[in-house]
Amino acid sequence: MRIDVLTIFPDYLAPLGLSLIGKARGRGLLDVRVHDLREHTTDAHRTVDDTPYGGGPGMVMKPEPWGAALDAVVARGGGAVPRLVVPGPGGMPFTQLLARELAAEPWLVFACGRYEGIDERVIEDAATRMRVSVVSLGDYVLNGGEVAALAMVEAVARLVPGVLGNAESLVEESHVDGLLEYPVYTKPPVWRGLEVPPVLVSGNHAAIREWRHGQRLRRTAARRPDLLHASEALGIEGLGTLVATAGDAAELGTLQRACWVSEAMANDSLDIPSLTESMETVRQGLGEWRTWVVRDSGRLVASVRGRVSPDDPQTWEIGRLMVAPDLQGRGIGRALLDFAEGAAPEGTTTLWLNTGRGSADNLRRYKRAGYRILAGEGRYPGTVDLTKRRRP
Ligand code: SAM
Repeated sequence: MRIDVLTIFPDYLAPLGLSLIGKARGRGLLDVRVHDLREHTTDAHRTVDDTPYGGGPGMVMKPEPWGAALDAVVARGGGAVPRLVVPGPGGMPFTQLLARELAAEPWLVFACGRYEGIDERVIEDAATRMRVSVVSLGDYVLNGGEVAALAMVEAVARLVPGVLGNAESLVEESHVDGLLEYPVYTKPPVWRGLEVPPVLVSGNHAAIREWRHGQRLRRTAARRPDLLHASEALGIEGLGTLVATAGDAAELGTLQRACWVSEAMANDSLDIPSLTESMETVRQGLGEWRTWVVRDSGRLVASVRGRVSPDDPQTWEIGRLMVAPDLQGRGIGRALLDFAEGAAPEGTTTLWLNTGRGSADNLRRYKRAGYRILAGEGRYPGTVDLTKRRRP
C-alpha cells in the first residue's frame, strides 16, 4: 500500500518510521512518503496561508500550494489515482469500519491542514479527479491534521496483510464487531492482592469464550452504551422485567414470520409451526410459556420463551429464540439464550431446545453454547432436540 502525507511539518510524521509501521516500510509492505507543502510555494517567504474571505479570525491555507502539491504527487503515480483523505473536525467520524475500508485502497493521500483549514476549492477541485473523504478523528479540535493522519495511518496500516506479526490479534479486538474487547490479564496470577478471574486459568475453553463474550457486552454497556443497540443493553440488564403479555402477540407473530423464513429455506420446508401458526396460537403460547420480549424505541426486536417441561419437571425448555433479521449478528441472541438459561428454576437439571435438522447456523450456535444433539427425530418432524446440563 502506498501512503503520501502532505504537511507543512514533515517532522511531525517521524513516528511513522518507528515500531510496526517502520518495520512494514522496511519490508516493503508500506510505501510511506511525507511531503513538505512549502516545496510547492512560489514566493520567497514560502507562504501557505492568507486572511479569510468574509473576515473573521485566523488564517486559511491558500489553494495554490495545495493544488500544486496534489498534482505533483498524483503525477508520480504512473496513471493510478489515489483516494484523498482530508483530516478535519467537520468530517465523517473515523471508525474501525472506515479504517477497514481505507485499508483496502491501494493508495491513500493525507492532506494535513493547519490554521482555520484549507481553502474549500482544493477539495472541490480534487474531487473532480479522485475520491475525497473529509475525516474527523473525534469531536474536538486539534491544531493540525498531522496527529489525525498519524492515528489514521496507524489504524489503517495495521490492517494491511502482513503488517502485524499475528493476524489473529485483529479478530477479537474492540470495534471489530461493534463491541469492545474483554479485559485481558497476564502473569502473575495474583498481583497486589488482585486475582486473575479464575475462569481464565480453568483450561475450560468453552467457559472462557462464554465469560469473554459476557465481559464484552458488559463493558460495552457500561462504557459505550451508544455502541450497543439498546436491546443489547437490555439483554443483559433489564430483560427480566419485560415479560410478554397478550398485547405483544401480534408483534411476536410478525417477528416469528420474519425470523423463520431463513429456517424454512435452510430446511426446505414451509411446514414449521413458528412460521405458520395463527395469532390465536401465538396468544395461547403466551399462556403456556413465560415469554420475554426486547423492545427498542418501542419496536419489538427480539424474544425468547421458557417453561418447565409438561412431561418432565427436571427439564427447562427454551423456545422461540428470535432476533429481528436486521439486528442479528450483534450478540443479542446469545445474550437472550444466556438469559433464558438463567431463568431456569431451581430443581431443573436439564436445558432443552429444538431446531430444524437443516438449520446449520442454529446448530453451530447451540453447540458453541454447550448443547448436544439428541439422537433421533426431534419433537417436530424434520427437527432435532438439543440438551445440556443446567449449571446449578
Ligand atoms: N476551523 C476548523 C473548524 O472549526 O472546523 C478547525 C481547524 S483546526 C484548528 C486545523 C486543522 O487541524 C484542520 O484543518 C484539520 O486538518 C486538523 N484537525 C483539527 N481537529 C481535527 C479532528 N478532530 N480530526 C481531524 N483533523 C482535525
